[in-house]
Amino acid sequence: MYHHVKKLMYTVRVETPDPAFGNMLLEQFGGANGELAAAMQYSIQGLNCEDPERKDLLMDIGTEELSHLEIVGTLARMHLKPTRSDRNPAHADPLIAIAGGGGVNLFNSQGNPWTADYLKITGELDVDLRSNIAAEARAKIVYERLINFCDDAGTKDALQFLMTREITHMKAFAAALESMKKPAFSIGKIAPTPGLVDQFFNDSTGEGDYGEVDARGPWNEAGAWQLVEAPAFQDLNVADTDSPSIYAESSE
Ligand code: MN
Ligand code: MN
Repeated sequence: MYHHVKKLMYTVRVETPDPAFGNMLLEQFGGANGELAAAMQYSIQGLNCEDPERKDLLMDIGTEELSHLEIVGTLARMHLKPTRSDRNPAHADPLIAIAGGGGVNLFNSQGNPWTADYLKITGELDVDLRSNIAAEARAKIVYERLINFCDDAGTKDALQFLMTREITHMKAFAAALESMKKPAFSIGKIAPTPGLVDQFFNDSTGEGDYGEVDARGPWNEAGAWQLVEAPAFQDLNVADTDSPSIYAESSE
């Protein structure tokens, strides 16, 4: 059950409307990493969730995201208001000024319509929680960029609030995933193929003109890793893990 309370979760003040900034804000209204996408992703994951405790988490945060949508929409609308009467900002964005009457609609900053394609819903709780952690990281960095391009103190305050809440959500999703006590690389039920799972294919080799290097690091050396050197140039089946000749010298 949803109920609307006529009070914003964070009171919004805009001293100087900036229609171009209002347009950028729409990225968090109807964009891929925006508040509607977050609200729908978590709420629908929650509908599908059969773990009552984590279902509550998904519904709590999904509902908070709707309150964020309301804040962003209010903020964007305040910034876009001049497009109703001033020729220059109206001319810069006819979709908002002429088709939309200077208000917000479910478009991103480029005028592309919101789409359910933005949502990541797999019906596998731990996989969904990983998607949500990544979604919160994306939302955080988008808010940070908006703050960096914002001149209005009141708007900055609201964006700082919204950005902070995304980190709060990220922490909650990460804690929920951890509390499921699944090994980090255990996804689903079918085990990956032993041997093959630890092969790192060095598929991009040589040095580039702009300092690109052939790198070793924790992602392909030490531990169980086996570096397979340029498999495309080897006359071998890389799935043949019994053939030691395919492995490059380990730097460890
Ligand atoms: Mn949010
Ligand atoms: Mn969030």
